[in-house]
Amino acid sequence: MATEASAWFLEQVGQPLVHRALALPDLKVDDALVEVLACGLCHTDLGYADGSVRPNHALPLVLGHEAVGIVREASDATLVGKPVIVPAVLPCGRCALCQSGRGNACTAQKMPGNDIHGGFATHMIVPAAPLVRLDAAPPGTDLRLLSVVADAVSTAWQATLRAQVRPGDAVVVIGAGGVGAFVTQIAKALDAQVICCDVRDDKLAQVAAVGADLTINVRGKNPRDVRKEVHGAFASWGVPSLNWRIFECSGTPDGQTLAFTLLARAATLVQVGFSAKPVELRFSNLMAFDATVHGTWGCPPEAYPDVLKLIWQGKIQLAPFCELAPMSQLNQALTDMAAHNLEKRMILDPRA
Ligand SMILES: [Zn+2]
Ligand SMILES: [Zn+2]
Repeated sequence: MATEASAWFLEQVGQPLVHRALALPDLKVDDALVEVLACGLCHTDLGYADGSVRPNHALPLVLGHEAVGIVREASDATLVGKPVIVPAVLPCGRCALCQSGRGNACTAQKMPGNDIHGGFATHMIVPAAPLVRLDAAPPGTDLRLLSVVADAVSTAWQATLRAQVRPGDAVVVIGAGGVGAFVTQIAKALDAQVICCDVRDDKLAQVAAVGADLTINVRGKNPRDVRKEVHGAFASWGVPSLNWRIFECSGTPDGQTLAFTLLARAATLVQVGFSAKPVELRFSNLMAFDATVHGTWGCPPEAYPDVLKLIWQGKIQLAPFCELAPMSQLNQALTDMAAHNLEKRMILDPRA
């Protein structure tokens, strides 16, 4: 293959990524060669880079699981030349979980930048079948922004599917940055009313600007006091607790404790964020409340077209939450992320 390819490799944890040539093996029949237009930087990438999360693939590994690109080679000729999202979860498509619409839980799934080389590269080789086509993007769409759909937006979408958010529901989102901002916008697009909780006023201002009905800065507050505030608002909106939907997106023990504290009779909680730390909960509250708690992981590729429609309709805005930069600034972006200095989700362009 004559294509000149390069990538940013994690060679040693705790060290900067190394930019060097990427060897592209001959394509297998089920794979596609994708020329990367952009790849989003996720907090999980920082975890791999600093050694706090171990990738499944041995080092060196190309990180990045939020890629959008153009298919350059594939067995399916109709794919070639087409823009696609490379989902962060690439299910096998054949197992019992995949066959029952639970491909996001497929035990044979591949994740770019974890199981296989990822999107911090000029090119990637990925399974062709789960690629999500972007043919329906309105003219003038900056396809690079759609990279965040591969994880942040689609994960938020799947979480709202899991919770069965309906018009008129009362939603509370804990953790207003990243995935939480997209859960907020999706819930609003589904005609729910939304409260966002965070410990940062700037994050709360961002979600207020895209439709959150109420924001609460929970820094230093007792979860029981927040419970009074949230339940009071839901009650004032006249929504019965059966239709309360709680999304824990902060991935912090405090956020998880708060989410559990907000449970009520027949309410639903979805755990979206990740924390390696345990929390102490009175689990029997689930029994007492007849409540439902779901986990959610990624999003099956077949669920993408519906959330893309909301983006085409302008009901989910990406630009206010994203910042484009050349991929050559990737190490700086990781440093900034580690120092909590990133205001927005960074999208890295290997051609810039
Ligand atoms: Zn991610
Ligand atoms: Zn499968």
